[in-house]
Amino acid sequence: MRIISLIFFTGIVSYLFISSQVKQHNGSNTTIVDPSIIKTTSSPLAITNVSVLSIDCSKMLEGVTVLVEDGKILDIAKNLSLTNNYTKIDGTGKYLIPGLIDTHVHLTNSKNDLLLYLANGVTSIAEMFGNNTHLQWRKDAQNGALSPKIYVATRKLASRKGTMRKIRSWFGSEKSYTTIEKARAAVRAYKAQGYDAIKLSSFLNPGIYQAIVDEAQKQKIPTIGHLSLEVGLNKLYTSGQSQLAHVEEIVKNTMEDFGGLNYKNTKAYLDYLRQNSDAIAIKLRKNNITVSSTIWLVESFPKQKFNLENFIKTIPLEYANPGLVEGSSFLKGWLPGNNAYENLEIRNDPERSKKSRMYWNTYVKAHQIMTRALIKHRVRIVAGTDANTACAVPGFSLHDELESLHKAGLTNAQVLRAATLHAAQWMQNGSTGRIESGCSADMILLNKNPLKDIRNTKTIQAVIANGKFLNKKALDKILRSIKEANNRSRKVKINPYIQ
Ligand SMILES: [Zn+2]
Repeated sequence: MRIISLIFFTGIVSYLFISSQVKQHNGSNTTIVDPSIIKTTSSPLAITNVSVLSIDCSKMLEGVTVLVEDGKILDIAKNLSLTNNYTKIDGTGKYLIPGLIDTHVHLTNSKNDLLLYLANGVTSIAEMFGNNTHLQWRKDAQNGALSPKIYVATRKLASRKGTMRKIRSWFGSEKSYTTIEKARAAVRAYKAQGYDAIKLSSFLNPGIYQAIVDEAQKQKIPTIGHLSLEVGLNKLYTSGQSQLAHVEEIVKNTMEDFGGLNYKNTKAYLDYLRQNSDAIAIKLRKNNITVSSTIWLVESFPKQKFNLENFIKTIPLEYANPGLVEGSSFLKGWLPGNNAYENLEIRNDPERSKKSRMYWNTYVKAHQIMTRALIKHRVRIVAGTDANTACAVPGFSLHDELESLHKAGLTNAQVLRAATLHAAQWMQNGSTGRIESGCSADMILLNKNPLKDIRNTKTIQAVIANGKFLNKKALDKILRSIKEANNRSRKVKINPYIQ
């Protein structure tokens, strides 16, 4: 009897300890900035004499006036006559583009991130590991809260077996299903709860995978996310899965089909990929499968693995949620010594480090080769960053992603489409992602033209989110308030990592 109570007691204590660590790591303990301190105006607006990005993102329409009323774009034209009730914003010499969309983020419990997205001109996000909290935040946004629009996918659906399956499920990680009936019932339940999409894990056997995708098609809810190696590319094309979460899903599967990448066969693998990337892209295009990018994060892997102390100084670390940055006793964070990608054992062994670098540099190159094939064959690429994964700071990471996409070979117009029009189409949100009358007023006013240089998306002068106008002062206040809230909540000082 005593032993049973002892086991029971130890169980409870461990559960409480792990829960508190998960909570700390999720960012739940960080001070929340009260959005009501941020001043916005939602009176009828007229942005005059501005250059507006065309719907297809190919050119700027100069000398235009854009009217905004009741959260919507009312009219766009030259020589509009204005009545007095409009608050006028002089757009002379400035550029108006649609609000940006990050199609792959992880909000966790980090609510300040919503403001961080707005401060960076990101007016829509897709949460790729959703829970009830995110469904509530989506509702709040729909009801007028100061927030980007939120698309919420479910947590990852998997088919793992054994004890880890239960542990992962208890602590809110992926959820595994062992029978086809249970998997189908889960899809119906998620649809009923109001999720926008079903997210697939990398750990799915072909039977459960096909059952989930098939049931989702019946329920008219898209299946998106990872591609299990057990399923493979050949089964993907006609499965009904409509999106891949990262270019990485394709690359990993080509590595598997090649027979595995290691430091000895890097050249042979890249040759294999070059020979096969066109055929893969053609099949993705034929089956209308969208690919979210996440190139910047992959490019950061070798930097995080081998040179984290310097790399971390290049990111705006002060804005990232301290809970996530610091990690916890069993969940790694971002900082040197406790970073999810860092492997100090390998790094400190010159021979192993050399081999590992060869592997990771090839890994990065493979992503660039595959991305170029996707562009060439007009596969719909949407910009997604995996924000809140180590070193991807919400909002800021999208601008880095745009630059990486450009370097991978997309024109500036293609990059802008990937983060606006195409991303909105993928989210099945016809009201955002373009500047057109009748659309939701989600826009960014820039000081420089992003068609000339994609880095100009960072020259933000003002943001309009759902019709709410945030001027430069309000945007700066968001950043300052989040920095202060984070500093109050820190357990580990980050001064050595700030440049
Ligand atoms: Zn992710």
